[in-house]
Amino acid sequence: MVEEQLKSRNIKDPRVLDAFIRIPRHTFVPSGDCEKAYGDYPIHIGLDQTISQPYMVALMSQCLALGGWESVLEIGTGSGYQAAILAELVQEVYTIERHEELSLRAQGKLKALGFSNIKFRVGDGTLGWPEEQPFDRIIVTAGAPHVPGALKNQLNDGGLLVVPVGPAEEQSLEIIRRDGAQFEQKTVCACRFVKLIGEEGWAE
Ligand code: SAH
Repeated sequence: MVEEQLKSRNIKDPRVLDAFIRIPRHTFVPSGDCEKAYGDYPIHIGLDQTISQPYMVALMSQCLALGGWESVLEIGTGSGYQAAILAELVQEVYTIERHEELSLRAQGKLKALGFSNIKFRVGDGTLGWPEEQPFDRIIVTAGAPHVPGALKNQLNDGGLLVVPVGPAEEQSLEIIRRDGAQFEQKTVCACRFVKLIGEEGWAE
């Protein structure tokens, strides 16, 4: 997976590549799908949700440009795989999932793997996590119709927000950098995620 899907497609951040070697992806897919765990595609995890393709997890992690000191907020805990990769890379990870069942399942897996630097919340992540803001980095792992304003506001000065934005069928992956009251936006590539559902996302 690391050689064929990540290194060959320009994932160069050595800390990101290392995290992919250390985290057992098969832990995060449904037990019957174990042999597919390292395939080059997303996999269904129930409740109409997916664990993203390895390359997309790596690309988004690389886009966050993590040095190790950052606090990171993730919207869309899902299987917990992206949270595990992030928790290998930084001190503190905050992750929000709207489906309690998925959050509890992810919490069990991440605790069993020994992670103690991830805080979980069940709720609408489009509103961010006001009590824990500001964050140095925010990553949204579901497709938003527009950039949620609350997430921009909860970014630290100099912070980065990585978010797929656009219509339900196809989004563009955007990196937004906060510079005081200004926000600078850069497009990375086209992508396709499940819907971000919530007050500043899609209607249910
Ligand atoms: N990061 C996940 C990928 C999850 S797919 C992983 O590594 O497996 C996207 C997830 O976002 C789904 O679990 C979905 O339920 C969740 N989601 C969608 N809208 C949300 C919202 N407003 N707040 C929190 N989670 C949301």
